[in-house]
Amino acid sequence: MNLENLVIVGSGCAGLTAAIYGARANLSPLVIEGIQPGGQLTTTSHVENFPGFPKGIGGFELMSNMRLQAEQFGTRFLSATVERANLRRKELFCGDVSIRGKAIIIATGASPRLLNIPGEREFFGGKGVSVCATCDGIFFKDREVAVIGGGDSACEEAIFLTHFCSKVYLIHRRDQLRASKIMADRLRANPKIEILWNSVLREICGREKVTSLRLTTEKREWELPCNAVFLAIGHSPNTQIFEGQVECDGEGYIKGEGVRTSLDGIFVAGDCCDCHYRQAITASAMGAMAAITAERYLYE
Ligand SMILES: Cc1cc2nc3c(=O)[nH]c(=O)nc-3n(C[C@H](O)[C@H](O)[C@H](O)COP(=O)(O)OP(=O)(O)OC[C@H]3O[C@@H](n4cnc5c(N)ncnc54)[C@H](O)[C@@H]3O)c2cc1C
Repeated sequence: MNLENLVIVGSGCAGLTAAIYGARANLSPLVIEGIQPGGQLTTTSHVENFPGFPKGIGGFELMSNMRLQAEQFGTRFLSATVERANLRRKELFCGDVSIRGKAIIIATGASPRLLNIPGEREFFGGKGVSVCATCDGIFFKDREVAVIGGGDSACEEAIFLTHFCSKVYLIHRRDQLRASKIMADRLRANPKIEILWNSVLREICGREKVTSLRLTTEKREWELPCNAVFLAIGHSPNTQIFEGQVECDGEGYIKGEGVRTSLDGIFVAGDCCDCHYRQAITASAMGAMAAITAERYLYE
């Protein structure tokens, strides 16, 4: 069994920023990359809100740069997935390999929930299917777009999109919203938003980009012309392997005091503990905080 100073689980913005800070603090961190090296941002073609890139940067390029930066200061990478953990012993298992860390940073991210319908994957990340209005809304200035969902997040996304888009359809499969009253009232009062009740999205259509949505209600099937669809049906934090070992909220987001978890020496950063912001820069910021806190913990 290997005993490491600092093991970082995950190689998205949070994990790689933690690695840059950990490596520069001479901890020689080990990053376990998981099945998505570079994390969620590698699935988007263009990132315009990460500071330092006035013309924007490709998601894959940004994450390759972060990896390179972490590597050049002495980070080591393991192309593997943590399948099991004993967090009390600070022990992680990747297949037959067992790794112990004096400190561990969990940065496993969250996966946006998808509908698994035709067109969804084809147009994902830059072609009209998005899971983040804050990230992609601006690309649809003066266009008609749709939001799928009926909770607070869906309402928030729809209202945010009215800052750019000429029209926003909120498509909900039920006849009432799950959102809080205040959010629902704000949504209804917005003249740019039209709610399509009892409607189910069956297919996302287009050639190179999204041009329409195929919807069904109980009585009819029809096509709604629009340029983008924002899925706001929730995220699942990738924390199942830590279930029961570290304190989480009802949805599985790891709870903490800042980046400290309920367990000594186990830290957390990024979307796996943040259901509010879910941005590259906030995940990176937490990664930096987690590495600095881990370094102080190790030298206390
Ligand atoms: C299509 C899309 C476009 C986006 N656009 C923008 C944008 O323009 N601007 C912006 O600020 N944000 C954007 N976001 C949000 C941003 O990508 C996330 O907020 C950010 O990636 C979160 O970083 P993270 O490191 O917490 O998690 P993630 O990026 O989700 O990375 C998680 C990492 O953990 C690893 N992992 C998971 N489970 C395990 C395991 N068991 N063992 C080992 N490793 C594991 C994965 O392989 C992955 O490397 C976008 C998101 C998507 C999906």
